[in-house]
Formats: sequence, C-alpha cells, structure tokens
Amino acid sequence: MTDVDILIVGGGIYGAGTAQAAVSAGHSVLLVEQNTIASATSGNSTKLIHGGLRYLESMQMRLVY
Ligand SMILES: Cc1cc2nc3c(=O)[nH]c(=O)nc-3n(C[C@H](O)[C@H](O)[C@H](O)COP(=O)(O)OP(=O)(O)OC[C@H]3O[C@@H](n4cnc5c(N)ncnc54)[C@H](O)[C@@H]3O)c2cc1C
Repeated sequence: MTDVDILIVGGGIYGAGTAQAAVSAGHSVLLVEQNTIASATSGNSTKLIHGGLRYLESMQMRLVY
C-alpha cells in the first residue's frame, strides 16, 4: 500500500494530463493503467489538434461549438 493524494485510473491522454497537472501542483499521484500507457483511444486517434474546427467543413455546428 502506498499513500498518495490522488489516484488516477487510466493512462490515456486525460489520465496522463491530469497526472502531470497534479504533480506540477505538488500532489503525489498514482496512475494505474490496465494495459499499457496510451494503448486505447489516445494511441489510436488521428493525432491532429483541430479544436473542432474540422467539423465546419461538414457544417456540424454542434461539434464546432
Ligand atoms: C478514431 C478517432 C479519432 C480521433 N481523432 C482525434 C483528433 O484528431 N483530435 C483530437 O483531439 N481527438 C481525437 N479523438 C478523440 C481523442 O482521441 C479522445 O478524446 C482521447 O484520446 C480520449 O482520451 P482518454 O484518456 O479519455 O481515453 P483513453 O485514451 O481511452 O484512455 C483510457 C485508459 O483507461 C484505461 N482503463 C480503463 N478502465 C480501466 C481500469 N478499470 N483500470 C485501469 N485502467 C483502465 C484504458 O486501458 C485506457 O488506456 C479521436 C478519437 C477516435 C476514436
């Protein structure tokens, strides 16, 4: 058993980002991943940073918003 401030379940981009932010803020963090880091959605996206603007082309305004 290890004492930590924050337990993060899942080593995708959100888990990794949350862990990085928490450590930067001075918290101790334990991140657990059932497979390997970025083995799920984050490792299989198109890796583009589009901020939703790509959906303008197809006029999917709800996604752009
Ligand atoms: C085809 C596709 C294309 C995409 N393209 C883009 C893009 O171009 N640009 C963009 O910004 N976004 C894109 N996205 C969206 C983006 O990839 C996802 O929103 C993001 O990767 C989700 O990250 P996540 O950390 O929430 O989930 P995940 O990356 O899925 O991470 C969740 C992790 O939790 C782990 N886990 C689950 N349950 C447990 C458990 N009980 N114990 C331990 N570990 C567990 C899983 O193994 C996994 O590693 C795309 C998504 C898809 C599917």
